[in-house]
Order: sequence, then structure tokens, then C-alpha cells
Amino acid sequence: MAKKLAAGNWKMNGTSESLSEIAALIAAHPNPSVDVLLCPPATLIAAASTAKGSHALGLGGQDCHANVSGAHTGDLSAQMLKDAGASYVIVGHSERRTDHGETSDLVRAKAEAATQAGLTAIICIGETLAQREAGETLAILDEQLQASVPDSATAATTVIAYEPVWAIGTGLTPTEAQIGEVHAALHSALGQRFGDGGDFSLLYGGSVKGSNAAQIFAIPHVHGALVGGASLKAADFSPIVTALE
Ligand code: PGA
Repeated sequence: MAKKLAAGNWKMNGTSESLSEIAALIAAHPNPSVDVLLCPPATLIAAASTAKGSHALGLGGQDCHANVSGAHTGDLSAQMLKDAGASYVIVGHSERRTDHGETSDLVRAKAEAATQAGLTAIICIGETLAQREAGETLAILDEQLQASVPDSATAATTVIAYEPVWAIGTGLTPTEAQIGEVHAALHSALGQRFGDGGDFSLLYGGSVKGSNAAQIFAIPHVHGALVGGASLKAADFSPIVTALE
């Protein structure tokens, strides 16, 4: 059974004051029946880890380097994130692919580094609006999936997030049929390649909020969400967690 995961990505938002949101989220969900994850900026992971104490809330990084250590000014390794208290890391988010020119080959190397460090990798893929309008969505996603997911991936160490680039931070979401088509295709492609495609958690991401979460979670092969804007405040993220429970 694929695990259910409500994941929040704070992106480049949050200072120590934002730790109160983590406290509020924990207070709202003292014993969640699904996996709940926050990926704050890396500067907050250690403090967030202390703040959450023994609560099951997971913490994750938003990116990692493909190497373990070395002369890479400004970068963070998966080991460092783990050491700070992370159990997950997002790799291949479209903002990394666009802002930093990250290719699927690099994303795969990062995912390998993550799992070697003992982190679960959340590998993101997604089509642009131009690609969708050109009818290339499924082909592009399969290409990204095959190239970004390492051969060593297992359902226990890898989560796939489908995030249409045009739906991120825009308030636009695909139709339920469009999300369903993509998730069924991902499920089948992972099944063909790994034989246990049924167990990989497949998240949808892109303008998920409390008001649309339940409909999205009802779509077959959707096991949770990767949430940006609506994860910053516990009051916005909590209804999404509840919708998944
Ligand atoms: P959004 O971001 O929820 O703000 O659209 C999603 C994401 O980038 O993961």
C-alpha cells in the first residue's frame, strides 16, 4: 500500500518566528493518521527538529547536492540535512530545474545521494503549459520520470510528485481527469520498471489548498500532496492534512 503523505514546501520563506506555525500544526494534529512533512528552509531544520520533539512530523530539505562533501560553496549534502533532523529531501522541483538549470540526470544523482544518506527522496516532475498545449504531457513526464528516478529506487525510499509547472503558485489546477490520467500513467510506468508501482506514493502538487484537497485526494493513484503557499500557515495546511486522513 502506498503511504499517504501531506508534504509542505516552504520554499525561500520562514525565519525562526515561523517555528510557531510548526507548533500550531503539531497542536492541531497530535497523532496524525497519515504522514505529515514540512520542508522549511534548511536554516530552520535543526530548530524545527527541536521544536517538534517526539512528534511524528517529518522534516525535509528542499534540495541537496549530489556529492557527500567537498568544495561546493553554498551547497548542502544529504548527510548534512539528515544530521540537522531531516528524513526527506525534495529533488528536482521545477524551480530548481528552471532557476538552476538542473537536468533529470542531475536530479537522479541527487536522489541517489539522498537515499544513500538515509533520506526519502521526493522526486518532482511536471510539464509546462506549452508542453501540455502541444499534447506532449505524458511523453514529457515519462521522459522525466525515467531519467530522474534511479534504478535503485524503491517505494520505501522514493516518492514521486507530479507538479504541472503552470499550476505552481498560480491558483490554476488541472481537471480531475487530467490529474487522474497522469497519475494512472505514472503508476503504470513505475509498475513496469520496478514491479511494485502500486507501492510508490504519488503526490500531486500545484495550487493545492483546503478547498480543493479532498477532491484531489479522491482521484485514483493520488496518495497526497506537495503544497507550497498553503503550507506556510498551520491554519491553511491543517485542513489539507485533515482531508487526507
Ligand atoms: P503551490 O506550490 O502549492 O504554492 O502551488 C506547490 C509546489 O511548488 O510544491
